[in-house]
Amino acid sequence: MQIADTHTHLYFTSFDRDRNEVIKRNKKSGIDLEVQIGVDEITSIAALDLAKKHDHMYCTLGVHPCDTENCFHPNPQYLPQGFGNYKLQAQNFDELFSLFEKLTEQNPHKIVGFGETGLDLYHKNTPELFQLQKDIFRRHISLSRKFEKPIVIHGRNSQKEMLEFLSREINPGIKASKIPGLGKVTGVIHCFSEDTEYANIMTQKYGFYLGIGGVATYPNARKVREAIVSTPIEFLVTETDAPFLVPQGHKEQTKRNESSFLPEVVTLIAELKKISQEECAEILFQNARKLFQIPPG
Ligand SMILES: [Zn+2]
Repeated sequence: MQIADTHTHLYFTSFDRDRNEVIKRNKKSGIDLEVQIGVDEITSIAALDLAKKHDHMYCTLGVHPCDTENCFHPNPQYLPQGFGNYKLQAQNFDELFSLFEKLTEQNPHKIVGFGETGLDLYHKNTPELFQLQKDIFRRHISLSRKFEKPIVIHGRNSQKEMLEFLSREINPGIKASKIPGLGKVTGVIHCFSEDTEYANIMTQKYGFYLGIGGVATYPNARKVREAIVSTPIEFLVTETDAPFLVPQGHKEQTKRNESSFLPEVVTLIAELKKISQEECAEILFQNARKLFQIPPG
């Protein structure tokens, strides 16, 4: 069984003590594809570093909506291993997004998308910060159009705002793809936690994939499971958001999520879709490859 983790942060300090063992465990559990997701300059470079070191790893470059404000003053406590003396190359967002462009030109096969980006009204927010999140989101969309690579979208407590934003910024459908410079933007709604209606808009109107992970296994996530049932499996991909969001079945064992827990998520999706685990895993794995345009290998 091959499984893809389309959203993980293995460079986080919580993996410093045993990162290589975790990678081995993941491999043993069938994880044949991991996409390391950047959240600011340093973590994007760290994600790329990991991707270059491991054949089955890829990465995205991006600025998390909750990291927009402190992007150029990262917390020294959370620097990835080996980055203690790293000097930021960018002092502002213009410089940072030029750096992202340069890196993507240099590593077109390892950098498979942009983000995570999006709108977060759950954590501390102000009108100014929300404005900044939208500006940064737009920059990711431009990169996505320029390089024809997907965006990884984070949304929290921002359903209404997300729908408004997307309907203004992204021209859905075939019509838009005919306008030069306004090509279809592909992407994934990372950590899908909403309901069927939201799932329908994201998949049918925008053609986005839904990232399904630990959240779907939680007892109170009935609506998420209903959405999985009614969404065509072609739009689903598996993800952990490791080290966060441990699936229900592993919660007693640890507070740190890792890709090797993903079989639990595959089992859940297979049950909801009433297909075998093997068939389910195969479809989900191919979906992940399609989303990030990763050739078979
Ligand atoms: Zn994440």
